[in-house]
Amino acid sequence: MPQIKKLLIANRGEIALRIHRACHEMGIKTVAVHSTADSDAMHVRLADEAICIGPPAATDSYLNIPNIISAAEISGADAIHPGYGFLSENAKFAEIVELHNLIFVGPKPEHIRTMGDKVEAKRTAGALGLPLVPGSDGAISDVGEAQKLALDIGYPVIIKAASGGGGRGMKVCTGPEHLETLMQQAGSEAKAAFGDATVYMEKYLGNPRHIEFQVFGDGNGNAIHLGERDCSLQRRHQKVLEEAPSPVITPEERDRMGGIVAKAMADMGYRGAGTIEFLWEDGEFYFIEMNTRLQVEHPVTEAITGLDLVREQIRIAEGHPLTFRQEEIQFRGHAIECRINAEDWKTFTPSPGTVAMYHTPGGMNVRVDSGLYTGYKVPPYYDSMIAKLIVYGTTRAGALRRLRRALEEYVIEGMKTTIPMHQALLDDPEFQRGDYTIKWLEEWLARQG
Ligand code: ADP
Repeated sequence: MPQIKKLLIANRGEIALRIHRACHEMGIKTVAVHSTADSDAMHVRLADEAICIGPPAATDSYLNIPNIISAAEISGADAIHPGYGFLSENAKFAEIVELHNLIFVGPKPEHIRTMGDKVEAKRTAGALGLPLVPGSDGAISDVGEAQKLALDIGYPVIIKAASGGGGRGMKVCTGPEHLETLMQQAGSEAKAAFGDATVYMEKYLGNPRHIEFQVFGDGNGNAIHLGERDCSLQRRHQKVLEEAPSPVITPEERDRMGGIVAKAMADMGYRGAGTIEFLWEDGEFYFIEMNTRLQVEHPVTEAITGLDLVREQIRIAEGHPLTFRQEEIQFRGHAIECRINAEDWKTFTPSPGTVAMYHTPGGMNVRVDSGLYTGYKVPPYYDSMIAKLIVYGTTRAGALRRLRRALEEYVIEGMKTTIPMHQALLDDPEFQRGDYTIKWLEEWLARQG
């Protein structure tokens, strides 16, 4: 069995640090890659080696496959972990990594490819027995057919880009008179954003929750699930706060649905970490997509299972069997993650700047994943998420109290952040009761004035 000795982290920010930490705990040396804008970044400082791979624009650096492969070869790394975003769901990158006799810490390239095409992903999920949102059987291009289908499914419907991601390229259509225009708009936006104009149609669910299951497969037909995360608190289809377990899922329902999901992954021969995303309405699950990578919100699952998901990814990549059997996984307590962005939370305009003063919360069951430090200059070129605050409590109420205390302690001076938004959210009785859906946060934000 190959043992990884040196791993190149093809990412930046908090997730690069997260991977570095797992590696060092496993005795694996790390190689950071970075753009010229990130020379002073914490992931560069902590790694055993660092190689500059290009100018600030991600297309020239963090997405620059030849430079990343060269960095791996020059440093003598034997594996690459892609993190999330950037090249993490690029099947071609995974293939190229393997062609260079490097271990790709991630799924088999063919599974990345299948799940990256949302039309193909739905078809595969359906064949594997996962419940689907009613919709087109594949892509739609003919307006006449789309009109018929929309009447069958019932309005409102949503037109989605087959190559979509990050909540982009979706159009909600409320009636037949708008369908043709919206299909055209969705197609041309998808073409511009993803280079692929293919769209498909789904029933638009009125007020669902977003509930996703964490899975792990060994690539040889064994798979387990690590329960669900509730990611319903979204703004513009982007997750803002996540919790595990979901306030609305019973242990019986977790076992039942988790079992279906794990079996699907086992049947597929899935390798590594993955997330199956569902919309949940009136007690029913509807598959929307699968992410073939580590998720931003993975720490809430780590908190309630006590497992290190990155360590597990690396062990699977080395060819080890799964560390745990399903019956050994126990879910304990409650965890909440706040995504903290460098943004004005009222207008959501980015607010990059230099950290004038930095103090992180601490104490029992408080975790901060962030690359910030006093004097660090947040570059304007990348995602505005600068930190994740994760708290754990034996109950949801306890986790909420701890979150309030931890947010009070957190000091980030020098830029606007979304910490005040999370604090205001904690005061809301509906949020406190866990009584929210994917629409709720935007309505709440509109009420904040
Ligand atoms: P992306 O890959 O861009 O994140 P998803 O398919 O995961 O796209 O959808 C992102 C979000 O969009 C969901 O979490 C949900 O809020 C909303 N959404 C997607 N499909 C539907 C649908 N059929 N009905 C209602 N909302 C939807």
